[in-house]
Amino acid sequence: MRVKILGSAAGGAFPQWNCGCPNCRAVRAGGFRGKARSQAQVAISNDGKTWFLLGASPDLRAQIEATPELHPRDGVRQSPIAGAVLANADIDHVLGLLLLRELQPLSVYATDSVHRILTEDNSMFAMLQRVPNQVAWSRFTPRTIFPLHTATGTDSGLRCRALSLGTHFPAYISPQRQGELSAEEASLGLIVESRIVESKIVESKVVESKIVGTSSGKRLAYMPAVPQIDDALLKEFESADVLLFDGTFWSDDELIRIQGSGQTARQMGHVPVSSADGSLRRLAGLRRPRKIYVHINNTNPMLNEAGPEYRQVREAGWEIAEDGWQFDL
Ligand SMILES: [Zn+2]
Repeated sequence: MRVKILGSAAGGAFPQWNCGCPNCRAVRAGGFRGKARSQAQVAISNDGKTWFLLGASPDLRAQIEATPELHPRDGVRQSPIAGAVLANADIDHVLGLLLLRELQPLSVYATDSVHRILTEDNSMFAMLQRVPNQVAWSRFTPRTIFPLHTATGTDSGLRCRALSLGTHFPAYISPQRQGELSAEEASLGLIVESRIVESKIVESKVVESKIVGTSSGKRLAYMPAVPQIDDALLKEFESADVLLFDGTFWSDDELIRIQGSGQTARQMGHVPVSSADGSLRRLAGLRRPRKIYVHINNTNPMLNEAGPEYRQVREAGWEIAEDGWQFDL
């Protein structure tokens, strides 16, 4: 499986348009030791040719242009992007779908709750349904393994399973509507596994593909919003080869201290990196996975590579994702 991190920041990106925090001011001024980042976006592929997006960020157009593997290869209208898997209905996570509306066939995977929010409550998403077979929606339930297929039914060899992590739907969904939806489908983490696919290719088109072998044994855990870490989750992480984990906030009261008001990290569904029960401590015992922080908010001091927080994270064996990173597993 090939994994590309197209965007590594939390919602709002870094710098954020209306933010004058020390990080945003410094990166605009040009003297910052660290990099600007676009909003969180991951792309995965089993063969390096057909790609699936994990979420669809508002920065997707620029992220695609910055990534040659995702440019059209043949024909006037074509894309290596076969589809997307949605982990929640947050604007930062789904808005990019509207940027993919140019009648390109796509396979989009979502829970029933997220599907209903997008297609029944938000009429703009009808742009994805203008012609038959434009977007093929597939519903999945948490904990069940589902295969990722292209819109024409070709098996990518990628297998996905969602973990139910948070019970809060985005603020734009009314309390009444939330009552009609399944809370366990509100906010998910994704486990992706690659399997070996044998494809029959005729005149450079895949005409048949079948899975050979049960699994390559390689596993990616994508967890951009984790409200708390329990033992079951630790076990999942220990079975992963790469863990992309919630690096949104350094401390629980980060936004309140910078803005003077607002919610704590935990109230927003993010366990902070630091503190006694933060992710650095709670995940210190993990042995198997390569540990990478993603979804980093612009206020997080670990973005500053000259600062003690950055050093602390790196010395603990973690990496801090940057836009454009790629790895194979
Ligand atoms: Zn900022």
